[in-house]
Amino acid sequence: MAHFDFIVAGSGVSGMVFARKMAEKGKKVLVLEKADRAGGCLASASYDNFWLELGGHTVYASYSSYISAMRSAGMEQDFLPRKKVPFRMLTSAGLVPLSKCLNKLELFLNLPKALFVKKEGRTVRDFYSALLGKGNYEKMFRPMIAAVISQEGSDFPADMMLKSRPKDKTLPRSFTIKGGMAEFIKKTAEMENVTLKTSCGADSVSLDNGIYTVTAGAEVFTADNFTAACYPAETGRLLADVAPEISSMLAPIPSAKVESVGVVLKKSDVSVGELSFIIAAEGDFTSVVSRDVVEDAHYRGFAFHFKPDRLTDEQKTSIIEKSLNTDRSKFVHKAETVHYCPTLKLGHEEMLEKLDSLVVKTKGLYITGNWFTGLAIEDCAMRSAREAARAIL
Ligand SMILES: Cc1cc2nc3c(=O)[nH]c(=O)nc-3n(C[C@H](O)[C@H](O)[C@H](O)COP(=O)(O)OP(=O)(O)OC[C@H]3O[C@@H](n4cnc5c(N)ncnc54)[C@H](O)[C@@H]3O)c2cc1C
Repeated sequence: MAHFDFIVAGSGVSGMVFARKMAEKGKKVLVLEKADRAGGCLASASYDNFWLELGGHTVYASYSSYISAMRSAGMEQDFLPRKKVPFRMLTSAGLVPLSKCLNKLELFLNLPKALFVKKEGRTVRDFYSALLGKGNYEKMFRPMIAAVISQEGSDFPADMMLKSRPKDKTLPRSFTIKGGMAEFIKKTAEMENVTLKTSCGADSVSLDNGIYTVTAGAEVFTADNFTAACYPAETGRLLADVAPEISSMLAPIPSAKVESVGVVLKKSDVSVGELSFIIAAEGDFTSVVSRDVVEDAHYRGFAFHFKPDRLTDEQKTSIIEKSLNTDRSKFVHKAETVHYCPTLKLGHEEMLEKLDSLVVKTKGLYITGNWFTGLAIEDCAMRSAREAARAIL
Protein backbone atom coordinates (compact mmCIF):
# COMPACT_ATOMS: atom_id res chain seq x y z
CA MET A 1 0.00 0.00 0.00
CA ALA A 2 1.48 3.37 -1.05
CA HIS A 3 2.22 5.72 1.88
CA PHE A 4 2.52 9.52 1.58
CA ASP A 5 3.21 12.47 3.87
CA PHE A 6 -0.06 14.11 2.72
CA ILE A 7 -3.15 12.97 0.87
CA VAL A 8 -5.14 15.86 -0.58
CA ALA A 9 -8.73 15.25 -1.75
CA GLY A 10 -9.53 17.68 -4.58
CA SER A 11 -7.25 19.06 -7.31
CA GLY A 12 -8.80 22.53 -7.68
CA VAL A 13 -6.74 25.59 -6.93
CA SER A 14 -7.25 25.10 -3.17
CA GLY A 15 -5.87 21.56 -3.20
CA MET A 16 -3.05 22.37 -5.61
CA VAL A 17 -1.79 25.46 -3.76
CA PHE A 18 -1.65 23.33 -0.62
CA ALA A 19 0.04 20.43 -2.48
CA ARG A 20 2.64 22.76 -4.02
CA LYS A 21 3.56 24.28 -0.66
CA MET A 22 4.04 20.86 0.91
CA ALA A 23 5.97 19.50 -2.08
CA GLU A 24 8.28 22.53 -1.93
CA LYS A 25 9.10 21.48 1.64
CA GLY A 26 10.11 18.05 0.39
CA LYS A 27 6.90 16.29 1.47
CA LYS A 28 5.45 13.50 -0.67
CA VAL A 29 1.91 14.45 -1.65
CA LEU A 30 -0.82 12.38 -3.26
CA VAL A 31 -3.65 14.42 -4.82
CA LEU A 32 -6.84 12.46 -5.41
CA GLU A 33 -9.33 13.91 -7.91
CA LYS A 34 -12.82 12.53 -8.42
CA ALA A 35 -13.28 13.97 -11.93
CA ASP A 36 -11.46 12.80 -15.03
CA ARG A 37 -9.49 16.05 -15.23
CA ALA A 38 -7.64 18.06 -12.61
CA GLY A 39 -8.40 21.70 -11.78
CA GLY A 40 -12.02 21.86 -10.63
CA CYS A 41 -13.25 25.39 -11.39
CA LEU A 42 -10.00 26.14 -13.26
CA ALA A 43 -10.87 24.55 -16.60
CA SER A 44 -9.13 25.69 -19.78
CA ALA A 45 -10.22 24.20 -23.13
CA SER A 46 -7.67 24.22 -25.97
CA TYR A 47 -7.97 24.18 -29.74
CA ASP A 48 -5.18 24.81 -32.27
CA ASN A 49 -3.00 26.96 -29.93
CA PHE A 50 -6.10 28.86 -28.79
CA TRP A 51 -7.48 28.47 -25.29
CA LEU A 52 -10.74 29.37 -23.66
CA GLU A 53 -11.65 29.46 -19.98
CA LEU A 54 -14.68 27.40 -18.96
CA GLY A 55 -14.18 28.43 -15.31
CA GLY A 56 -12.02 30.99 -13.48
CA HIS A 57 -10.57 33.47 -15.98
CA THR A 58 -9.13 36.53 -14.23
CA VAL A 59 -6.36 37.12 -11.72
CA TYR A 60 -6.15 40.55 -10.06
CA ALA A 61 -2.94 42.27 -8.96
CA SER A 62 -4.39 42.06 -5.45
CA TYR A 63 -4.26 38.22 -5.41
CA SER A 64 -0.98 38.17 -3.47
CA SER A 65 -1.18 34.56 -2.21
CA TYR A 66 -2.07 33.16 -5.63
CA ILE A 67 0.50 35.32 -7.42
CA SER A 68 3.14 34.10 -5.01
CA ALA A 69 2.18 30.46 -5.72
CA MET A 70 2.30 31.11 -9.49
CA ARG A 71 5.66 32.85 -9.15
CA SER A 72 7.02 29.83 -7.30
CA ALA A 73 5.76 27.73 -10.24
CA GLY A 74 7.88 29.95 -12.55
CA MET A 75 4.83 31.37 -14.29
CA GLU A 76 5.46 35.11 -14.14
CA GLN A 77 6.47 35.27 -17.80
CA ASP A 78 3.05 33.81 -18.64
CA PHE A 79 1.03 36.64 -17.03
CA LEU A 80 -0.95 38.28 -19.84
CA PRO A 81 -2.65 41.65 -19.24
CA ARG A 82 -6.34 41.61 -20.13
CA LYS A 83 -7.23 43.92 -23.01
CA LYS A 84 -9.87 46.51 -22.07
CA VAL A 85 -13.06 45.40 -23.79
CA PRO A 86 -16.54 46.28 -22.57
CA PHE A 87 -18.92 44.42 -20.26
CA ARG A 88 -22.49 44.11 -21.48
CA MET A 89 -25.79 43.40 -19.78
CA LEU A 90 -28.28 41.23 -21.66
CA THR A 91 -31.75 42.70 -21.10
CA SER A 92 -35.07 42.48 -22.93
CA ALA A 93 -33.70 45.38 -25.02
CA GLY A 94 -30.66 43.31 -26.06
CA LEU A 95 -27.03 43.90 -25.09
CA VAL A 96 -26.62 47.24 -23.30
CA PRO A 97 -23.78 48.90 -21.34
CA LEU A 98 -23.99 48.35 -17.58
CA SER A 99 -24.41 52.08 -16.98
CA LYS A 100 -27.77 51.94 -18.84
CA CYS A 101 -29.14 49.75 -16.04
CA LEU A 102 -28.18 52.19 -13.29
CA ASN A 103 -30.74 54.74 -12.11
CA LYS A 104 -28.47 57.66 -11.25
CA LEU A 105 -31.17 59.59 -9.40
CA GLU A 106 -31.83 56.63 -7.11
CA LEU A 107 -28.08 56.29 -6.53
CA PHE A 108 -27.78 60.00 -5.72
CA LEU A 109 -30.73 59.96 -3.32
CA ASN A 110 -29.19 57.01 -1.55
CA LEU A 111 -25.75 58.58 -1.06
CA PRO A 112 -26.29 60.00 2.46
CA LYS A 113 -27.51 56.61 3.72
CA ALA A 114 -24.66 54.82 1.96
CA LEU A 115 -22.09 56.55 4.15
CA PHE A 116 -23.31 54.67 7.21
CA VAL A 117 -23.96 51.14 5.96
CA LYS A 118 -21.59 48.42 7.08
CA LYS A 119 -21.02 45.08 5.38
CA GLU A 120 -20.67 43.00 8.55
CA GLY A 121 -23.71 40.95 9.50
CA ARG A 122 -25.61 41.92 6.35
CA THR A 123 -26.58 39.97 3.29
CA VAL A 124 -25.51 41.05 -0.17
CA ARG A 125 -29.12 42.11 -0.84
CA ASP A 126 -29.35 44.24 2.33
CA PHE A 127 -25.97 45.88 2.00
CA TYR A 128 -26.02 46.71 -1.71
CA SER A 129 -29.71 47.75 -1.70
CA ALA A 130 -28.82 50.20 1.07
CA LEU A 131 -25.80 51.40 -0.91
CA LEU A 132 -27.29 51.67 -4.41
CA GLY A 133 -31.05 51.70 -3.85
CA LYS A 134 -33.44 48.76 -4.13
CA GLY A 135 -34.22 49.33 -7.82
CA ASN A 136 -30.54 49.52 -8.77
CA TYR A 137 -29.86 46.41 -6.73
CA GLU A 138 -32.53 44.37 -8.51
CA LYS A 139 -31.90 45.69 -11.99
CA MET A 140 -28.13 45.87 -12.07
CA PHE A 141 -26.31 44.54 -9.04
CA ARG A 142 -28.21 41.29 -8.41
CA PRO A 143 -27.57 39.97 -11.96
CA MET A 144 -23.98 41.19 -11.74
CA ILE A 145 -23.31 39.22 -8.57
CA ALA A 146 -25.10 36.17 -9.99
CA ALA A 147 -22.84 36.40 -13.05
CA VAL A 148 -19.71 36.62 -10.90
CA ILE A 149 -20.54 33.66 -8.66
CA SER A 150 -22.66 31.72 -11.20
CA GLN A 151 -25.66 31.54 -8.87
CA GLU A 152 -28.11 33.80 -7.05
CA GLY A 153 -26.03 35.60 -4.41
CA SER A 154 -28.57 37.82 -2.60
CA ASP A 155 -28.42 35.85 0.66
CA PHE A 156 -24.61 35.55 0.78
CA PRO A 157 -22.79 37.41 3.56
CA ALA A 158 -21.87 40.80 2.07
CA ASP A 159 -18.37 40.81 3.53
CA MET A 160 -17.44 37.63 1.61
CA MET A 161 -17.96 39.41 -1.71
CA LEU A 162 -16.02 42.01 -3.74
CA LYS A 163 -13.18 42.56 -1.31
CA SER A 164 -10.62 45.25 -1.61
CA ARG A 165 -7.03 44.01 -1.06
CA PRO A 166 -3.65 45.71 -1.51
CA LYS A 167 -2.37 45.49 -5.09
CA ASP A 168 1.03 44.49 -6.43
CA LYS A 169 1.78 47.68 -8.40
CA THR A 170 4.39 45.93 -10.55
CA LEU A 171 1.63 43.89 -12.24
CA PRO A 172 -1.27 44.79 -14.54
CA ARG A 173 -4.48 45.46 -12.57
CA SER A 174 -5.99 42.27 -13.96
CA PHE A 175 -4.45 39.55 -16.08
CA THR A 176 -4.81 36.01 -17.27
CA ILE A 177 -2.38 33.20 -18.04
CA LYS A 178 -0.82 32.25 -21.38
CA GLY A 179 -2.10 28.79 -22.29
CA GLY A 180 -4.95 29.06 -19.80
CA MET A 181 -5.62 29.31 -16.09
CA ALA A 182 -5.25 25.54 -15.65
CA GLU A 183 -1.48 25.89 -16.32
CA PHE A 184 -0.94 26.32 -12.57
CA ILE A 185 -2.68 22.99 -11.94
CA LYS A 186 -0.61 21.29 -14.65
CA LYS A 187 2.68 22.71 -13.36
CA THR A 188 1.90 21.65 -9.79
CA ALA A 189 0.91 18.14 -10.87
CA GLU A 190 4.30 17.87 -12.63
CA MET A 191 6.27 18.54 -9.42
CA GLU A 192 8.57 15.73 -8.40
CA ASN A 193 6.94 15.20 -5.01
CA VAL A 194 3.35 15.39 -6.27
CA THR A 195 1.39 12.38 -7.51
CA LEU A 196 -1.98 13.21 -9.09
CA LYS A 197 -4.63 10.57 -9.65
CA THR A 198 -7.71 11.63 -11.62
CA SER A 199 -10.97 9.63 -11.76
CA CYS A 200 -9.94 8.55 -8.27
CA GLY A 201 -12.16 10.34 -5.75
CA ALA A 202 -11.67 9.75 -2.04
CA ASP A 203 -14.54 7.54 -0.87
CA SER A 204 -13.73 7.27 2.83
CA VAL A 205 -11.14 8.46 5.34
CA SER A 206 -10.23 6.85 8.64
CA LEU A 207 -7.58 7.60 11.25
CA ASP A 208 -5.86 4.93 13.28
CA ASN A 209 -2.74 5.34 15.42
CA GLY A 210 -1.92 8.65 13.73
CA ILE A 211 -2.16 7.21 10.19
CA TYR A 212 -4.89 8.23 7.73
CA THR A 213 -6.27 5.52 5.45
CA VAL A 214 -8.11 6.76 2.36
CA THR A 215 -10.07 4.47 0.07
CA ALA A 216 -10.65 5.52 -3.53
CA GLY A 217 -12.53 2.96 -5.60
CA ALA A 218 -10.55 -0.26 -5.43
CA GLU A 219 -7.42 1.56 -4.21
CA VAL A 220 -6.29 2.23 -0.65
CA PHE A 221 -3.67 4.81 0.34
CA THR A 222 -2.19 5.85 3.67
CA ALA A 223 -0.63 9.11 4.86
CA ASP A 224 0.49 10.94 7.97
CA ASN A 225 -1.79 13.86 7.09
CA PHE A 226 -5.07 14.40 5.26
CA THR A 227 -6.24 17.60 3.56
CA ALA A 228 -9.81 18.05 2.38
CA ALA A 229 -9.99 20.48 -0.57
CA CYS A 230 -13.48 19.89 -1.91
CA TYR A 231 -17.01 21.28 -1.42
CA PRO A 232 -18.31 21.70 2.13
CA ALA A 233 -20.81 18.81 2.02
CA GLU A 234 -18.26 16.46 0.46
CA THR A 235 -15.68 17.48 3.07
CA GLY A 236 -18.33 16.78 5.70
CA ARG A 237 -19.00 13.34 4.23
CA LEU A 238 -15.30 12.46 4.12
CA LEU A 239 -14.74 13.54 7.74
CA ALA A 240 -17.67 11.60 9.21
CA ASP A 241 -15.38 9.20 11.12
CA VAL A 242 -12.30 11.39 11.61
CA ALA A 243 -14.00 14.61 12.83
CA PRO A 244 -17.73 13.98 13.33
CA GLU A 245 -18.48 17.41 14.80
CA ILE A 246 -16.95 19.19 11.78
CA SER A 247 -18.69 16.71 9.51
CA SER A 248 -22.15 17.53 10.83
CA MET A 249 -21.51 21.28 10.48
CA LEU A 250 -20.49 20.98 6.82
CA ALA A 251 -22.81 18.28 5.52
CA PRO A 252 -25.87 20.58 5.17
CA ILE A 253 -24.06 23.34 3.17
CA PRO A 254 -25.28 23.21 -0.43
CA SER A 255 -23.29 23.89 -3.59
CA ALA A 256 -24.75 25.26 -6.80
CA LYS A 257 -24.17 23.34 -10.00
CA VAL A 258 -23.01 25.36 -13.00
CA GLU A 259 -23.20 23.86 -16.50
CA SER A 260 -20.55 25.52 -18.64
CA VAL A 261 -20.36 25.22 -22.42
CA GLY A 262 -17.59 26.84 -24.45
CA VAL A 263 -17.45 27.35 -28.20
CA VAL A 264 -14.59 28.44 -30.46
CA LEU A 265 -15.32 30.08 -33.81
CA LYS A 266 -13.26 31.63 -36.58
CA LYS A 267 -13.13 35.40 -36.10
CA SER A 268 -14.74 35.94 -39.49
CA ASP A 269 -17.76 33.89 -38.40
CA VAL A 270 -18.74 36.10 -35.42
CA SER A 271 -20.49 39.41 -35.97
CA VAL A 272 -20.98 40.29 -32.27
CA GLY A 273 -18.68 43.19 -31.27
CA GLU A 274 -15.75 42.63 -28.90
CA LEU A 275 -16.75 42.17 -25.28
CA SER A 276 -15.29 40.68 -22.13
CA PHE A 277 -18.35 39.51 -20.28
CA ILE A 278 -22.13 39.35 -20.71
CA ILE A 279 -24.22 39.57 -17.57
CA ALA A 280 -27.61 37.98 -18.12
CA ALA A 281 -30.33 39.76 -16.17
CA GLU A 282 -32.88 37.01 -16.84
CA GLY A 283 -32.99 33.67 -18.59
CA ASP A 284 -31.22 30.36 -18.60
CA PHE A 285 -27.62 31.45 -18.18
CA THR A 286 -25.99 33.77 -15.66
CA SER A 287 -23.07 34.93 -17.79
CA VAL A 288 -20.98 34.56 -20.91
CA VAL A 289 -17.20 34.97 -20.62
CA SER A 290 -15.34 35.74 -23.83
CA ARG A 291 -11.68 35.31 -24.81
CA ASP A 292 -11.63 38.75 -26.44
CA VAL A 293 -9.46 40.01 -23.55
CA VAL A 294 -6.45 38.33 -25.19
CA GLU A 295 -5.99 39.03 -28.89
CA ASP A 296 -5.89 36.05 -31.25
CA ALA A 297 -5.29 36.23 -34.98
CA HIS A 298 -7.74 33.46 -35.93
CA TYR A 299 -10.34 32.62 -33.31
CA ARG A 300 -12.81 33.93 -30.77
CA GLY A 301 -14.19 31.91 -27.88
CA PHE A 302 -17.20 32.20 -25.57
CA ALA A 303 -18.08 30.24 -22.44
CA PHE A 304 -21.77 30.18 -21.47
CA HIS A 305 -22.54 29.44 -17.81
CA PHE A 306 -26.00 27.87 -17.69
CA LYS A 307 -28.32 27.51 -14.71
CA PRO A 308 -28.47 23.84 -13.70
CA ASP A 309 -30.79 21.07 -14.84
CA ARG A 310 -32.96 23.25 -17.06
CA LEU A 311 -31.87 22.65 -20.62
CA THR A 312 -30.96 19.85 -22.99
CA ASP A 313 -27.74 20.04 -25.02
CA GLU A 314 -29.83 20.98 -28.04
CA GLN A 315 -31.48 23.87 -26.17
CA LYS A 316 -28.09 25.14 -24.93
CA THR A 317 -26.69 25.03 -28.45
CA SER A 318 -29.69 26.99 -29.79
CA ILE A 319 -29.19 29.65 -27.11
CA ILE A 320 -25.50 29.95 -28.04
CA GLU A 321 -26.37 30.25 -31.74
CA LYS A 322 -28.96 32.94 -31.04
CA SER A 323 -26.76 34.92 -28.64
CA LEU A 324 -23.78 34.93 -31.02
CA ASN A 325 -25.92 35.36 -34.11
CA THR A 326 -24.32 32.36 -35.79
CA ASP A 327 -25.05 28.68 -36.36
CA ARG A 328 -23.51 25.50 -34.99
CA SER A 329 -21.78 24.61 -38.25
CA LYS A 330 -19.42 27.51 -37.47
CA PHE A 331 -18.28 26.04 -34.13
CA VAL A 332 -14.76 24.74 -34.74
CA HIS A 333 -14.57 23.43 -31.18
CA LYS A 334 -17.01 22.84 -28.34
CA ALA A 335 -16.19 21.86 -24.75
CA GLU A 336 -18.32 21.34 -21.67
CA THR A 337 -17.81 21.00 -17.96
CA VAL A 338 -19.73 21.16 -14.70
CA HIS A 339 -18.65 23.17 -11.65
CA TYR A 340 -19.98 23.21 -8.10
CA CYS A 341 -19.82 26.46 -6.14
CA PRO A 342 -20.76 26.69 -2.45
CA THR A 343 -23.89 28.59 -1.44
CA LEU A 344 -23.07 30.60 1.69
CA LYS A 345 -25.41 32.27 4.16
CA LEU A 346 -25.16 34.68 7.11
CA GLY A 347 -23.68 32.85 10.08
CA HIS A 348 -21.11 31.10 7.88
CA GLU A 349 -18.21 33.01 9.40
CA GLU A 350 -19.23 32.03 12.94
CA MET A 351 -19.42 28.40 11.80
CA LEU A 352 -15.90 28.72 10.36
CA GLU A 353 -14.54 30.04 13.66
CA LYS A 354 -15.91 26.93 15.32
CA LEU A 355 -14.47 24.74 12.55
CA ASP A 356 -11.04 26.30 13.01
CA SER A 357 -11.15 25.70 16.75
CA LEU A 358 -12.03 22.04 16.12
CA VAL A 359 -9.75 21.17 13.21
CA VAL A 360 -6.58 21.79 15.22
CA LYS A 361 -7.71 19.08 17.67
CA THR A 362 -7.32 16.32 15.07
CA LYS A 363 -3.64 15.77 14.38
CA GLY A 364 -2.67 15.89 10.73
CA LEU A 365 -6.05 17.21 9.51
CA TYR A 366 -6.26 20.26 7.23
CA ILE A 367 -9.26 21.79 5.47
CA THR A 368 -9.26 24.24 2.60
CA GLY A 369 -11.58 25.34 -0.21
CA ASN A 370 -13.41 28.28 -1.74
CA TRP A 371 -15.75 28.63 1.22
CA PHE A 372 -13.53 30.28 3.87
CA THR A 373 -12.92 33.98 3.26
CA GLY A 374 -14.77 34.05 -0.08
CA LEU A 375 -15.12 32.32 -3.44
CA ALA A 376 -12.33 34.03 -5.40
CA ILE A 377 -9.17 32.20 -6.43
CA GLU A 378 -7.28 34.40 -3.97
CA ASP A 379 -9.53 33.27 -1.12
CA CYS A 380 -8.66 29.66 -1.98
CA ALA A 381 -4.93 30.40 -2.16
CA MET A 382 -5.01 32.36 1.12
CA ARG A 383 -6.75 29.57 3.00
CA SER A 384 -4.43 26.94 1.54
CA ALA A 385 -1.34 29.00 2.41
CA ARG A 386 -2.67 29.36 5.96
CA GLU A 387 -3.31 25.64 6.34
CA ALA A 388 0.08 24.87 4.78
CA ALA A 389 1.78 27.18 7.29
CA ARG A 390 0.02 25.30 10.11
CA ALA A 391 1.15 21.99 8.62
CA ILE A 392 4.82 22.92 8.56
CA LEU A 393 5.02 24.56 11.99
C1 LIG B 1 -17.52 29.85 -14.11
C2 LIG B 1 -16.64 30.36 -13.00
C3 LIG B 1 -15.85 31.49 -13.21
C4 LIG B 1 -15.03 31.96 -12.18
N1 LIG B 1 -14.23 33.04 -12.43
C5 LIG B 1 -13.36 33.46 -11.48
C6 LIG B 1 -12.41 34.48 -11.76
O1 LIG B 1 -12.32 34.95 -12.89
N2 LIG B 1 -11.58 34.88 -10.76
C7 LIG B 1 -11.65 34.35 -9.49
O2 LIG B 1 -10.91 34.79 -8.62
N3 LIG B 1 -12.52 33.35 -9.22
C8 LIG B 1 -13.34 32.87 -10.18
N4 LIG B 1 -14.20 31.84 -9.92
C9 LIG B 1 -14.13 31.19 -8.60
C10 LIG B 1 -12.93 30.27 -8.49
O3 LIG B 1 -12.50 29.85 -9.76
C11 LIG B 1 -13.26 29.03 -7.64
O4 LIG B 1 -13.87 29.41 -6.42
C12 LIG B 1 -12.03 28.20 -7.34
O5 LIG B 1 -11.34 27.88 -8.52
C13 LIG B 1 -12.45 26.96 -6.56
O6 LIG B 1 -11.32 26.18 -6.27
P1 LIG B 1 -11.40 25.01 -5.21
O7 LIG B 1 -10.17 24.22 -5.36
O8 LIG B 1 -11.70 25.53 -3.86
O9 LIG B 1 -12.67 24.15 -5.60
P2 LIG B 1 -12.93 23.36 -6.95
O10 LIG B 1 -12.27 24.02 -8.08
O11 LIG B 1 -14.39 23.13 -7.01
O12 LIG B 1 -12.16 21.99 -6.71
C14 LIG B 1 -12.65 20.97 -5.89
C15 LIG B 1 -12.25 19.67 -6.56
O13 LIG B 1 -12.54 18.60 -5.66
C16 LIG B 1 -12.94 17.49 -6.44
N5 LIG B 1 -13.60 16.53 -5.53
C17 LIG B 1 -14.85 16.58 -5.02
N6 LIG B 1 -15.06 15.54 -4.21
C18 LIG B 1 -13.91 14.81 -4.21
C19 LIG B 1 -13.48 13.62 -3.55
N7 LIG B 1 -14.31 12.93 -2.74
N8 LIG B 1 -12.24 13.16 -3.78
C20 LIG B 1 -11.39 13.83 -4.61
N9 LIG B 1 -11.74 14.95 -5.27
C21 LIG B 1 -12.98 15.45 -5.05
C22 LIG B 1 -13.83 18.11 -7.51
O14 LIG B 1 -14.00 17.24 -8.60
C23 LIG B 1 -13.03 19.36 -7.85
O15 LIG B 1 -12.11 19.11 -8.89
C24 LIG B 1 -15.01 31.32 -10.93
C25 LIG B 1 -15.80 30.17 -10.72
C26 LIG B 1 -16.60 29.69 -11.75
C27 LIG B 1 -17.42 28.45 -11.54
